[in-house]
Amino acid sequence: MDLGLKGKKAIVCAASKGLGRACAISLAREGVDLVITARTAADLEKTAEEIRQMTGVNVTAVPGDITSEAGRAAALAACPQPDILINNNGGPPRGDFREWGREDWIKAVDANMLAPILFIKSVVDGMTERKFGRIVNITSASVKSPIPELGMSNGARAGLTGFVAGLARQVARHNVIINNLLPGPFLTDRLRGGFQEAARRTNRSVDEVVQERLAATPAGRAGDPAEFGDACAFLCSAKISFMVGQNLLLDGGAFNSSMS
Ligand code: NAP
Repeated sequence: MDLGLKGKKAIVCAASKGLGRACAISLAREGVDLVITARTAADLEKTAEEIRQMTGVNVTAVPGDITSEAGRAAALAACPQPDILINNNGGPPRGDFREWGREDWIKAVDANMLAPILFIKSVVDGMTERKFGRIVNITSASVKSPIPELGMSNGARAGLTGFVAGLARQVARHNVIINNLLPGPFLTDRLRGGFQEAARRTNRSVDEVVQERLAATPAGRAGDPAEFGDACAFLCSAKISFMVGQNLLLDGGAFNSSMS
């Protein structure tokens, strides 16, 4: 299926590694020119060069913190009229909510709720005028099924989800389509880090923790970031304009429900 994206321009946030990188690769394979961001310039440029070599599209690496106004402004300066925006960021730390103070919460809300909302604010009117826009927010399966030790993630992302539910319905008539992608366990550095921490806490090997966690997933495995990237590209397709404000779980069936 031709997604109809050849020649479009995308900003993919937090894209040197993991899920953001996978989304960037899948969009590039559809012929989309990219601006990608992450804080560590060397990792970002390495990913940019890999994508150029793989696909031949134009890839501009814009190092910076996407939570900051300056980081978002730099990405926009490199791509003032994006057709596609993929909102992504690092996730908040795990822990016990009793240990988190106001500053911790403000950081989580800044990163996982306000940064994507402010980025959407910067691009959505231009998309509306041009009558084409696709915005995908990478959130988490924890929005539908809270993970107790990820309380800040559960909370901040729920705020983003609520905002997007309203806005998506205001702009859909202009062919500006906003949806959220909710990852379950995908084998990225972040997930590996979580397994290592659980192994340390419970005095077990990382392998044991991985086996236990993934055996409980109906698919019996972790997700491959590449399949997440392809789902993201699908949501950006020019042909998908009637799927509005949805929260799409990619979790190997872990969320146990007759209807998602
Ligand atoms: P990852 O492998 O750790 O990659 C994170 C990427 O984001 C890196 O490129 C990192 O580069 C960049 N980044 C982090 N903070 C940034 C910032 N402030 N500004 C710009 N770039 C930043 O993480 P991932 O597994 O792909 O996760 C992506 C998102 O999905 C996270 O919010 C995570 O919580 C969520 N999620 C992941 C899973 C999973 O199974 N993997 C499940 C549920 C939810 P730099 O560090 O160089 O900036």
